[in-house]
Amino acid sequence: MKEISRSIVGVCFRVTHACNMACPMCYSFKSLHVSSLATKCEILDRIANAGATKVMLTGGEPLIYKDLLLVARHAKARSLKVGLSTNAILLTPQWLNEACSFVDEISLPLDGSTSSIHALGRGSRNHFELVLERLELLRPYPFAIDVGTIVSAVNWQSLDSLAELLIRHEVRKWKLFQFWPIAKAHALRGQFALPVSHFRSVADSLMGKYGVEISIDARDALLGTMQSYVDISANGDVVLPKEHGYRIIGNVLTCKDLIKMLENNSFNFAVHHSRHWRDKNYPCIDLRDQTSLSIQSSRIRSIS
Ligand code: SF4
Repeated sequence: MKEISRSIVGVCFRVTHACNMACPMCYSFKSLHVSSLATKCEILDRIANAGATKVMLTGGEPLIYKDLLLVARHAKARSLKVGLSTNAILLTPQWLNEACSFVDEISLPLDGSTSSIHALGRGSRNHFELVLERLELLRPYPFAIDVGTIVSAVNWQSLDSLAELLIRHEVRKWKLFQFWPIAKAHALRGQFALPVSHFRSVADSLMGKYGVEISIDARDALLGTMQSYVDISANGDVVLPKEHGYRIIGNVLTCKDLIKMLENNSFNFAVHHSRHWRDKNYPCIDLRDQTSLSIQSSRIRSIS
């Protein structure tokens, strides 16, 4: 086994930067770059060669990319576990039937227990109902399903009701992300920002009440956590957060050593592994001596 300090498990690959929504709180890295299917497959090769075992296909909205299934098939051929993070608008039974062989997990967003709360960050009132419909559509399929929620000052009071809603829809995994004022979302910081201590107490309370019925994974927005995501753009650029935006630290197609690139740019391997340890049977790392990360670590333990 590679040393934990110099290896990666999961990678987010933005197959396209285009999106069919315009969420006011979008914190996605934007780029005008597009790439061919061959380039995307080469990027996946680099990801697999760097030792990653999982790729999350994301965007923008990944389902906009017409050859997404071919990308997923290539990832599977490289023995990667394949996840899809989607706003769900373009999910259809036909696509799901074809995806069964290549996609393992599907992640959908819900940011409140009602359409009006959800719309505060997502912009669209109809999207709330659409996601609930898609959760029903997904029930008979074999994918592992999770829901991601951006926890902010405008929705934390609705999360008890949202937990009950998710449990009714048989969602078994729930990812809570502290609102992160970066990129476009920076403009909402006055209204949405939630102190980390408040986020942690909300997450702890939800775990105490619902942790048996739904696995809750809470992720704060401290820099150490944000620098633990391997985020790769459609053209192979690797990005890390910087102040209220992103910086490109290199490109996987031109740099032969992704691990070295990350290492040279303060990538947080310890938190990266703490988050992914269940994916690769790594022991959970005890980070309790690192104040900013202690709660996250103990939460991950508590749901294992
Ligand atoms: S948050 Fe996601 S769905 Fe919304 S605009 Fe950004 S990329 Fe699109």
